[in-house]
Amino acid sequence: MNLYQADPNLSFILQQYLDGEFYQWAKKELEDFGLLCGTEIDERAVHTDREGQPRLIKYNRYGDEISDVWLNEGYKKTIEQTYNSGIVGYIHKKIPEIGRKGNYLYSFAQGYLLSQVEPGFYCPVTLTMATAYLLERYGNEELKQQFLPHIISTGDVELYEGATFLTERQGGSDVGANETKAENVGEHYLLSGEKYFASNAGACGVAMVLARMEGAEGGTKGLSLFLVPWRNEDGSLNGISIRRLKDKLGVRAVPSGEVVLTKAKAFLVGDASRGFYYMMEALNLSRICNTIASVGIMQRAYLEAKSYAYKRDAFGNRLKDYPMVQETLVKMRVKQEVETSASFVLVDFFDKVVGLNQGAAKDQALLRLLIALLKAETAEEAIHFSHEAIEMHGGNGYIEDFVTPRLLRDAQVLTVWEGTANILGLEVLRLLNKFEVDQLFLKYIEQEYEKLPPKLQELGLPVKVSCEGLKEFIELIKGASVAEQTYHCKRLAKLMTKIFISLVALQDAAIGGERKELVARLFLDQTWRDPISYDPEMLPLKYFHQIVEE
Ligand SMILES: Cc1cc2nc3c(=O)[nH]c(=O)nc-3n(C[C@H](O)[C@H](O)[C@H](O)COP(=O)(O)OP(=O)(O)OC[C@H]3O[C@@H](n4cnc5c(N)ncnc54)[C@H](O)[C@@H]3O)c2cc1C
Repeated sequence: MNLYQADPNLSFILQQYLDGEFYQWAKKELEDFGLLCGTEIDERAVHTDREGQPRLIKYNRYGDEISDVWLNEGYKKTIEQTYNSGIVGYIHKKIPEIGRKGNYLYSFAQGYLLSQVEPGFYCPVTLTMATAYLLERYGNEELKQQFLPHIISTGDVELYEGATFLTERQGGSDVGANETKAENVGEHYLLSGEKYFASNAGACGVAMVLARMEGAEGGTKGLSLFLVPWRNEDGSLNGISIRRLKDKLGVRAVPSGEVVLTKAKAFLVGDASRGFYYMMEALNLSRICNTIASVGIMQRAYLEAKSYAYKRDAFGNRLKDYPMVQETLVKMRVKQEVETSASFVLVDFFDKVVGLNQGAAKDQALLRLLIALLKAETAEEAIHFSHEAIEMHGGNGYIEDFVTPRLLRDAQVLTVWEGTANILGLEVLRLLNKFEVDQLFLKYIEQEYEKLPPKLQELGLPVKVSCEGLKEFIELIKGASVAEQTYHCKRLAKLMTKIFISLVALQDAAIGGERKELVARLFLDQTWRDPISYDPEMLPLKYFHQIVEE
């Protein structure tokens, strides 16, 4: 299947953000990549997940420690094809055919297709993206010259995939507890310590690592950012050993190791006192990747659920003809479509605020808020959608002959890495208390709502009413104790998310014609209607044909 052609919503989105020349080029490339993903990459992903998982080769035949990671040949082919398509490279360098740089939006369109079939490998891509971001933005010229061309390789030079090592045994959310030490030895540093969750260990060429210099203060403020090459120039390991690879529930394509650094040669990136802040910027980028991977899994889950419902008979009827099945499919289609649109609103905002320059503080705060909201929401939905896809298949859905179990296993990590839901709730609270982001959010929503044509304003009345509810909620929260605030922060985030995504549904309806208006109507209905009340309208049944069949 061609995953690009199977998803008209993606081209609807891209046409909004890419100018004519870029769109025409991107369309052709994404058609090719969508086919590759829907065929070869999908097939290889099955093998990688089952028999072809990365394996640690700890010692060579002479008993020397080599901490090598074996990757299967098909996976290596997927690496080559994906990076050569410019998923990281064209964010930073010119696309030869059109003589201009790409952007994050195009890269995320590729990421969205890739994560429908191989979300495990989208993790290394994400890490490479974050590494390139950090190096380009904060590395000195010498470092950039030496490493950046490899990190953004599109097949022109040897590829160095990236990695980001923060988490230690004593804390992932609590990065300030990091203990890895950096010793200054003149031109470079030597890093010693343990990194407990190190994805892409053994497969990366360079890693971005947080460590504390001698005499630096405790907590996050004392952390500096370092670039650590995996190997020395002669090919030997750079003071790095992999203790073991994690035996994971999902995302098995990516090797995630426990890494021990023993005087690993490292280069300082940027200002020594700002390492944590740099990493948090990269983390926000990774949270967007997480969002895109989530809507990708949602799309695959929908496609699988639909395909099964159209093939399977029970009690003499096709599954698709049963009202409950129709309701499930309509709800999945509509939610996936709207949340994908919302994710790309976020990506476009990121391109404007961060991708090209360092935007105004207010824009950055609003961006961080939207990232936290959408990362949390879409990760939960990816799990929910995978569950729905399994349910639609009955017993078969639970069996590894089908992709559905892997979808669920892969989706489950999306709520954990890059910040759990609790940590994201705390981020919303921080933004509220420090930057009054609630005011920025409300102003944004109200302004955009006012721009809608009257009939969509009427349809979007729940958004307007909920903004009033949100104001009251915020008043209560602002006057509350720390414990009360943290107790409520996820609820607050959820309300903001529902408001934001509903607005996006209405904005799509304003430009997307009759079908998008229907999508908005159904989305608002499923978002704001009390789920246990009697539903006399039964909109999903009424519009099943337009939404799912057309
Ligand atoms: C497959 C995989 C790959 C990974 N790859 C990497 C990687 O490449 N690099 C890297 O640096 N890390 C990586 N991680 C680590 C990941 O980022 C952390 O697991 C995650 O940030 C959570 O940290 P933790 O595991 O220490 O959990 P903890 O921080 O111990 O959290 C445990 C629970 O407590 C909750 N909690 C913590 N603090 C609070 C609080 N203040 N209030 C309320 N609740 C709280 C959390 O929400 C969570 O539910 C990876 C993890 C996985 C599973």
